[in-house]
Amino acid sequence: MIQPLRHVAEMDLYALAAVTDAEDARLVSLAQNESLRAPSPLAVAAANYTLSNGAAYPDPDWNKLRSALASRHGLTADNILCGAGSMELIAALAQCFLDGEHHALASEYSYAFFETAVARVGSRLLKAKEAAFTVNIRSLIESVTAQTRIVFVANPGNPTGTRIPTRDLLALRAALSHDILLVIDEAYGEFTEGLDAPTFDMVETGNTVVLRTFSKAYGLAAMRIGWGYFGPPICAHLRKVLNPNNINSASQAAATAAVLDDAYMRETTRLTSEIRDRFQVSLMQLGYAPPPSCANFILIPFASAEKAAFAQQRLYDGGFILRGMSGYGLPDCLRATISSEHHMQGVINILKSLRHQGDTI
Ligand SMILES: *Cc1c(COP(=O)(O)O)cnc(C)c1O
Repeated sequence: MIQPLRHVAEMDLYALAAVTDAEDARLVSLAQNESLRAPSPLAVAAANYTLSNGAAYPDPDWNKLRSALASRHGLTADNILCGAGSMELIAALAQCFLDGEHHALASEYSYAFFETAVARVGSRLLKAKEAAFTVNIRSLIESVTAQTRIVFVANPGNPTGTRIPTRDLLALRAALSHDILLVIDEAYGEFTEGLDAPTFDMVETGNTVVLRTFSKAYGLAAMRIGWGYFGPPICAHLRKVLNPNNINSASQAAATAAVLDDAYMRETTRLTSEIRDRFQVSLMQLGYAPPPSCANFILIPFASAEKAAFAQQRLYDGGFILRGMSGYGLPDCLRATISSEHHMQGVINILKSLRHQGDTI
């Protein structure tokens, strides 16, 4: 029987969340950090419009989308690359810069796909300790070795939701040597806009890249589209390992219209943050201690893995799918995506009933 390469044979399959069964309208998925709102109606209309021209290949250079993004963020369009989800860009970065001789570094509780992307190219992901569910710059710097080629940070972090101030990222960059790429994954960056200086300027100085996605604040997870800002030499190499024609025309049109409908996205982040902050307060009133989230989800620590699993089952029975965190090394936590006020109240009611049954949290 033919065998794959050893590093592939040894890999685990990437664990996606249990997806809501479309037939089972009773279940609400709070497991994948999807937006609480449908995409902008302008994005939907733009995507629909492309379908009649479906016989043609999409624009391989994503020109309209790149110029919309460039003017929205004040960037150089040529230094933007788009991926079939930012996952494609993360994987392409690993392919460009890592192999069996070199490794990547991330924080203790970081985005699970970093690990997969690194394993796919036969490399390894080392983890730096964090405290209070927050990336510790010092510990990252101390964990760098001569074989480190990429440092991945998600900001805000997933699954923690906590934020790294831009000045800490600048300190991290300054401490890393020039042959180490710093990847700042801002999948939830739209939720913190205005709170701190944007990190795009760090890209201009080289060896730092910033990734964004349309899957979260823009509500376009189904369309599989993300983008990143890269220094020109990195752009040129990365492009070689991306699929040509990687993003279909409907997704490009939807994303472009979504960028232009800025007010819609801002309303989504405003609404999400409001519901999130109230949910956070309710959790604290029940005695939980969730780390302060700057994204569209909240990490809920329980007293033990058993209690987390028990609560997860009760929530499921009550119609809510929360993400178990064993795959993230946090078996005592559940992660709840922020949905409508009504749904979040439903979650709180179930957690409250667990308490009333005399159970500790
Ligand atoms: C959701 C998420 C992504 C994946 O985004 P896609 O664009 O849907 O591939 C990347 N990074 C982090 C930290 C995420 O939470």
